Amino acid sequence: MSSYSKIIKKRRITDMNEGIFRNLMEYIPESIQGYTTSGIVFYWNKASERIYGYTAEEAIGKNLEDLIIPADLKPLFKVCLESGKKVKKSGEFMPAGELKLLHKEGHLVPVYSIHSAVYIDGKEPLLFCIDVDLSEQKRTEERLKQIKDELERSNLELRQFAYGVAHDLLNPLNIIAGCIHLFEQRYKGNLDSNFDDLLGYAVNEFKRIKSFVEDLLAYAQIEMMNKDFKPADISSALEKAVFNLQHAIEESDAVVTNDTLPVIMADEIQMVRLLQNFISNAIKYRTEKPPEVHISAERGIDEWIISIRDNGIGIDTGYSEQIFIMFQRLNRRTIHPGSGLGLTICRKIVEQHGGRIWVKSEPGKGSIFYFAIPDRHQ
Ligand code: ADP
Repeated sequence: MSSYSKIIKKRRITDMNEGIFRNLMEYIPESIQGYTTSGIVFYWNKASERIYGYTAEEAIGKNLEDLIIPADLKPLFKVCLESGKKVKKSGEFMPAGELKLLHKEGHLVPVYSIHSAVYIDGKEPLLFCIDVDLSEQKRTEERLKQIKDELERSNLELRQFAYGVAHDLLNPLNIIAGCIHLFEQRYKGNLDSNFDDLLGYAVNEFKRIKSFVEDLLAYAQIEMMNKDFKPADISSALEKAVFNLQHAIEESDAVVTNDTLPVIMADEIQMVRLLQNFISNAIKYRTEKPPEVHISAERGIDEWIISIRDNGIGIDTGYSEQIFIMFQRLNRRTIHPGSGLGLTICRKIVEQHGGRIWVKSEPGKGSIFYFAIPDRHQ
């Protein structure tokens, strides 16, 4: 046992002399003010001087009300003194809470205030106020709020920019699509084979730009989506998604099956887009075998978990987070064309619904994409 702990053991805390307590009270970082039940200050520690600007000489003997109590808190201070007069036992006698008290120079200081009384039989109780200075914490909160507001503002500007660009590009792109279609109809097979190759190349690149612009527009639109969710039938959303992908499904001999699917509180148009993105990826990232896609649903705690299983090329576990990030692609563009926005759009839709998204996969065997949507009451 150290000599220090021997001393502590021998001399109980009640034996500690007043000097030690005075020292503790003087140098503690919290403001401690002692005052009578009529509000007259009899004790004022160093931290009180730092926090409120008055020295102990200036404060002692004055009424606390005239020093640090602002006009709006004067009625509460009266209640405090009244309660103080009725104290019959030591301890807290007023609810603790956050307040703004007055500094000598006139500005307000945010503090967390605790009111405690020392009751000695038959004598007037001594009242103490312990104030924790919250100025630094409030400044940090304000700075964080400013950063958050700034981020939200620049995010909004970026979204509006992306939306504007994508929206304005779609019109000329549709005109170019019409021209290319006319070229194909009129000249394909009529000029030399070089022309056909070049036209094929232009058509492919054009399709890529168009799908990128469409994805960008879809992404920018999701944030603006109405969050007034209504019952959405996931099986009818699936039917629509399959209908929209008819061409790709037939071309690849894909088979899309499903279990019983629930009705959930969601935006049905976004549910169609979500399923469509997963199924189209399942077809795009297939192996030699015809794609098999199965959609099922499972009830979680307070949520519905929908899964989309495929028998495609799969994803390395190391990339299971990365694929949901904008423009992150694991495969070569020449083999699997795409914008790298599909899963980002899925993540955004799910997040807008307050849900979660994730993937489990085994390279060569296939992947299961999951999304969970909170089970809001209808
Ligand atoms: P894109 O398909 O346009 O590249 P996505 O955001 O939809 O963009 O997908 C990101 C990446 O995740 C893809 O490039 C691909 O490597 C991988 N991926 C997505 N879905 C699947 C899937 N079902 N099977 C295997 N890999 C997938």
